[in-house]
Amino acid sequence: MNIVTEINEWQAIRAELLNKSIGFVPTMGNLHGGHLSLCRRSKSENDLTVVSIFVNPTQFNQQQDLSSYPRTLEQDTELLLSNKIDFLFFPNTDAMYPDNYQIQITETDESLVLEGEHRSGHFNGVLTIVLKLLNLIQPTRTYFGEKDFQQFLLIKKMADALFLKSEIISCPTIRGEGNLALSSRNSRLNPQQKQRALNFPKLLHSSLSVSEITAKLKKRGFKVDYITEKWQRRLGAVWVDDIRLIDNVHKP
Ligand code: AMP
Repeated sequence: MNIVTEINEWQAIRAELLNKSIGFVPTMGNLHGGHLSLCRRSKSENDLTVVSIFVNPTQFNQQQDLSSYPRTLEQDTELLLSNKIDFLFFPNTDAMYPDNYQIQITETDESLVLEGEHRSGHFNGVLTIVLKLLNLIQPTRTYFGEKDFQQFLLIKKMADALFLKSEIISCPTIRGEGNLALSSRNSRLNPQQKQRALNFPKLLHSSLSVSEITAKLKKRGFKVDYITEKWQRRLGAVWVDDIRLIDNVHKP
């Protein structure tokens, strides 16, 4: 695996890959089975796969969330090596934001609800970094998880609106014990919090109504940002103490 940290180094490599199909998996690291499922899909559909690891500061609306975000580069590199990924792109923040984030991509409708309502400016950060990465990597296909369903919709919308060349592909949510969606933030749950967190996927998958689910979650000590149905899905965001979890399922 070639680990590339400099933008101009990647651009020189990319210029030599003209006849290859390139699959791209953007991540913020602390890789788990969800990320690896995207990698496997990319490997099965492309000649080469590029994974990026970049903890994007502009999509965090709380400094505490950004500073506590798990950073596990050594372990991630091992995982990518054993999954036979061709390139790891690992740029630094200043290089990705030569403009100091004075240029931003804004969607003015669906970015303002759900995650956007509770995390002000979040999707500006997401769309801006994804556009920068797509412009640099120039992938044939780019892979995103359904776990972040609103994010996938908005990136697809941006790609269509701006005539981006990459195909934007969504992949199913990978779940672990008790159906809890795999997430980098799960590593911050202690055993008691993890046990409590399992109520979230269980209730989201149930045949209860949105208001019944919300009431039950609150009774079990969750702070509920939203439980709602939209885009043919049932989506939710909750807090287990100071750890925020999101998930969505097909509307029952
Ligand atoms: P992140 O590192 O959290 O920014 O996630 C990078 C990509 O992996 C995004 O497209 C996520 O939607 C996707 N992803 C994260 N968790 C899962 C999961 N449990 N199942 C499938 N995809 C996931």
